[in-house]
Amino acid sequence: MAIDLGTANTLVYVKGKGVVLNEPSVVAIVNEKGRNTVLAVGEDAKQMLGRTPGSIQAIRPLRDGVIADFIVTEEMIKHFIKKVHKKTIANPRILICVPTGSTPVERKAIQDSALAAGARRVQLIEEPIAAAIGAGLPIQEATGSMVVDIGGGTTEIAVMSLGGVVYSESLRVAGDAMDNSLKDYMREEYNLMIGDSTAEKIKKDIGTAIPTNNNTYAVKGRDLRSGTPKEVNISEQDTSEALNPILKEIVSGIKKALENTPPELSADLVDMGLTMTGGGSLLKNIDKRFSKETGLPVNIADDPLSCVAIGTGKALDDQEIFSTVLSEY
Ligand code: ADP
Ligand code: MG
Repeated sequence: MAIDLGTANTLVYVKGKGVVLNEPSVVAIVNEKGRNTVLAVGEDAKQMLGRTPGSIQAIRPLRDGVIADFIVTEEMIKHFIKKVHKKTIANPRILICVPTGSTPVERKAIQDSALAAGARRVQLIEEPIAAAIGAGLPIQEATGSMVVDIGGGTTEIAVMSLGGVVYSESLRVAGDAMDNSLKDYMREEYNLMIGDSTAEKIKKDIGTAIPTNNNTYAVKGRDLRSGTPKEVNISEQDTSEALNPILKEIVSGIKKALENTPPELSADLVDMGLTMTGGGSLLKNIDKRFSKETGLPVNIADDPLSCVAIGTGKALDDQEIFSTVLSEY
């Protein structure tokens, strides 16, 4: 099986079956008499985020792209492997995709967790390579390819050629930062306090990188002065203004990557453009805006939320073709 361990969502791909599991990377833990026990993982645990009573904690262990909590991450990996495993093969060979910026200690921890969960053999693949394979880019040719993956906690920007990563950078701004910007904006402009899920919903429903209409959208929250529930109407202009700092930061990251790309490969990128993956690339008009600001053609991969999992799965299926991009700790 192949696993895309994301900061927001974890996907599991099984050979011959495709993506069989897609759940939030969230673990709910209950602390009783000083002992932590796992209460729920995935979708069930996400429902508890921001709604937990004292003794329960809902945690996103990979939130910022680094493993904040090894034990919780291990529990989560084990849970997902077991859930899929039961219905499939015994002692699977597992391929897990890891961010390019992850440390050797983190890679080893991920590998050990999968072994502890019953894997026979665990191999790793760099996330941008998996994203590129999923998007059908010719990464093994002597042509430059650029992938920008906007996930929950991190944006991974990478330039690849001949099956290797030539340049990569991981920014700590992505979908979560967009949600936080929307929260800050609502507080500053409308004195309205909103929760994380409301901010995420605004982003998905009317969030845009370039406003195109004046339609209004009702947002419910709590008035900061009176403390009572309140509803305000916002427009696409509001969201683009709120998201502006985040989008600017990602564009700077792309420009920096272009400056650090060898000239021959840059020339390829001018023709081929950059490919976007990850849930953040579903933000309305993000491709138009990035294209305008970088001067490159921008393509969004088909099914950006599953692209990395599909690419990891392809690398698992076509072991021989992709052997050079797999590693073991
Ligand atoms: P990760 O790989 O880090 O787990 P994903 O690629 O699964 O992240 O993307 C999750 C992020 O994508 C979340 O921040 C989510 O809010 C965002 N997202 C999902 N759908 C949309 C959409 N339609 N518009 C904007 N952002 C979206
Ligand atoms: Mg991802």
